[in-house]
Amino acid sequence: MNEALKMNDFPTTARVVIIGGGAVGTSSLYHLAKAGWTDCVLLEKNELTAGSTWHAAGNVPTFSTSWSIMNMQRYSTELYRGLGAAVDYPMNYHVTGSVRLAHSRERMQEFQRAKGMGLYQGMNLEILGVDEIQDKYPFLETHDLQGALYDPADGDIDPAQLTQALAKGARDMGARILRFTPATGVSRENSEWIVHTDKGDIRCEYVVNAAGYYAQRVGEWFKPYGGRTVPMMVMSHQYLLSEEIPEICQWSAETGKKLPLLRDVDVSYYLRQEKNGFNLGPYERGGRAHWADPSDPMPEDFSFQLYPDDLDRLEHYIEDAMARVPLLGSAGISKVINGPIPYAPDGNPLVGPMPGVPNAFEACVFTFGIAQGGGAGKVLAEWITEGATEWDMWSCDPRRFTDYTDHDYCVENGKQVYGHEYAMHFPWHRWPAGADRKLSPVDSRIRAAGGVMGAYNGWERANWFAKPGDDLSHETTQTWDRAGPWEARIREECEAVRDHCGILAISGFTRLQVQGPGAKDYVDGLTASRLSKPGRIGLAYFPDARGRILTEMSVMVHGDDHVGLITASTAQWHDADVLRKNAPAGLHITDHSHEAECFLVTGPKAREILAPLTDADLSLPWLSVQLDSHVAGRPCALLRVSFAGELGWELHCANEDAVAIYDAVTAGGAKPFGMWALNSLRLEKGYRAWKGDLSTDYTLYQGGLDRFIKLDKPQDFAGKAALAAEFQRGPSKRFVTLLVEAKLADAPYMSTLWHDGTVVGETTSGGWGYRVNASIALGMLRADLAVPGTEIEVEIYGERCRAVVQADQPLWDPANERLRA
Ligand SMILES: Cc1cc2nc3c(=O)[nH]c(=O)nc-3n(C[C@H](O)[C@H](O)[C@H](O)COP(=O)(O)OP(=O)(O)OC[C@H]3O[C@@H](n4cnc5c(N)ncnc54)[C@H](O)[C@@H]3O)c2cc1C
Repeated sequence: MNEALKMNDFPTTARVVIIGGGAVGTSSLYHLAKAGWTDCVLLEKNELTAGSTWHAAGNVPTFSTSWSIMNMQRYSTELYRGLGAAVDYPMNYHVTGSVRLAHSRERMQEFQRAKGMGLYQGMNLEILGVDEIQDKYPFLETHDLQGALYDPADGDIDPAQLTQALAKGARDMGARILRFTPATGVSRENSEWIVHTDKGDIRCEYVVNAAGYYAQRVGEWFKPYGGRTVPMMVMSHQYLLSEEIPEICQWSAETGKKLPLLRDVDVSYYLRQEKNGFNLGPYERGGRAHWADPSDPMPEDFSFQLYPDDLDRLEHYIEDAMARVPLLGSAGISKVINGPIPYAPDGNPLVGPMPGVPNAFEACVFTFGIAQGGGAGKVLAEWITEGATEWDMWSCDPRRFTDYTDHDYCVENGKQVYGHEYAMHFPWHRWPAGADRKLSPVDSRIRAAGGVMGAYNGWERANWFAKPGDDLSHETTQTWDRAGPWEARIREECEAVRDHCGILAISGFTRLQVQGPGAKDYVDGLTASRLSKPGRIGLAYFPDARGRILTEMSVMVHGDDHVGLITASTAQWHDADVLRKNAPAGLHITDHSHEAECFLVTGPKAREILAPLTDADLSLPWLSVQLDSHVAGRPCALLRVSFAGELGWELHCANEDAVAIYDAVTAGGAKPFGMWALNSLRLEKGYRAWKGDLSTDYTLYQGGLDRFIKLDKPQDFAGKAALAAEFQRGPSKRFVTLLVEAKLADAPYMSTLWHDGTVVGETTSGGWGYRVNASIALGMLRADLAVPGTEIEVEIYGERCRAVVQADQPLWDPANERLRA
């Protein structure tokens, strides 16, 4: 209590100050202390759990189709099982298992995929046939189901007890928790943070925003130090508790168990045994956002408060659940809980470096903070104490959102995610919210040509080009299979690039400049690769200290004092951070992504089409750079590279010149193609995609990037020692290209690879190659099997398909003759 906090006991310094004492903040403190960082302080403005944590339903699933989220959730269940004993704080954690129902073939395929991923993480998710479901859950109607997934590790925990246990564990190791001590602001002095509270200031090295649904408010304090508005909104979520049901009393008494958690994901609710009744929690369509407009301001303090009940919204779901489990209808509702849940625009939390702000981190905006809290604490502590995480955590990295996530975008997307919390994420489907944030100067031309758009870091690009009469309905996209109206078009686009010439607007490419004395040496010290000479462009790979793949950028050295870098649009804030992190004073790192457009013009006729339009020398070789050329009379840089693997140039021009250049090149005969064709074309060349094939889950050697690793270059670089050691012992797994005897669907990310009945690796991407007419997967395979000709199996949505390891060279044009033509 306030009074109990004697002034002379107030910690005026700490290594880390965490703002927020919910499940996530306390887990972060616990994991920091476990890592030996005990000189840390957590500030909670009220009592611990006062935010979303106290009223959470406490469900703790492991299920996810995201590898990293599954990792976090799996870790939480493992932690929670032993936590009570480890910190001597017994708590209610019921590992009941769960039954997740499927109403369609596609849902069963999703379950199969999660089962494969789970197996690879050491879990035993089980597929249940319709006739097996009632063995697990007796009170259920099953006549209209396709099957179910059983997760034996699922269960429920008391969120308040969990938080107190984490707090006790942290305190016992020496960390401090100050309750009823609101942080009121931050400032920065001599490269240290000063966190202000109403009881005094705390000087620290690192600050963590773990303020739950208040995270946007707390985030505002960091704006003077490079911060941005935290991308989030708040939804109201309700669950209903029923009165006791005698049949459940009896079943539990007879079996000595609680019923498994039930999720009818196609309808969108969870139903859990709570004491001897039920807890029903729907994620309803058209849900209610709170504190989203000026007429409904967020109160200064909402500790331990709820919203008024609003059951009308849930009627459809209650009726459906009563039909599914008729026992539910036999009892009245005893209580309704309606509380705030924060949502980031994609529904994943923000865990990692605070964009643009030194030594500040986020662990906030959790939609499933009880299930993910354990893992999130581990991840956050690793970010701070080691500067890197065990698992690649891009799915939760705050830098995945950039400047396009304004208030409306957050509200629209939060509502959409909430209403489709359990939806399947088909690769062909575009969610409608938040479209058209950033448009290419040639956007209207792309759409007029039939462009079916997708967003890349907020930029609209064509995924494919439809023809009149193509079925563009939502229904056609609800499939994991390859076939759909897009397939014939992607084939035509790939063939146009193969036989003639295509043009693709790659809007929103990230463009960074490093300028100042020593710019070239500085960039050289960040990459394992050799920088190309002025007048050339080259790929460079940037390892972390462990030799893992941080990122890939195309580098142009303009001189010792000036280097230009081009990288994926989604990597914009991440890669700027990589460059800025340890930049010496005097170097300027600037972002020019908004200033220019890029067209990839590629195919055997590219030279013919460009020749009459440009003063550039089109005989210059592959990887040549001509910065001061013209196309259609407009200034334009020509870089001779093609991610499609054909003769080609990237044309980089100012936005105002883009229309003239696009019009001239298309009038010359170049045919528009889209990102899905590009993905197919790059798979055939074995070109890696960032955060699929290239991630911090793998080292550069594992990633098969040997020819880009120059251990003998004079400049020392990050990760060199780790890579040198790995070179000596040889990597444990290796990047491979596989030809797969796939059936209706190609291998998605993280499909398991099998050999002799054991899992021996995973895919990192897959798809159909229209030039080689085969299903391709890129992946990581146990090193001893990564030998051309080895036969393995790829498990694609539960079906094992034969696959053969290919030679370490592109499937298409292995000698790169077409590129060099
Ligand atoms: C009805 C309902 C049911 C739910 N069911 C589940 C479930 O079954 N499983 C699940 O995983 N999740 C569930 N959730 C979501 C879950 O409650 C949250 O994801 C989780 O509690 C978030 O924890 P947190 O620590 O990030 O945030 P919070 O618990 O909100 O903690 C943030 C803390 O920061 C403090 N704070 C804010 N500003 C300051 C400041 N300036 N100074 C000091 N302290 C500050 C707040 O007082 C608060 O205690 C549910 C949510 C609701 C509403």
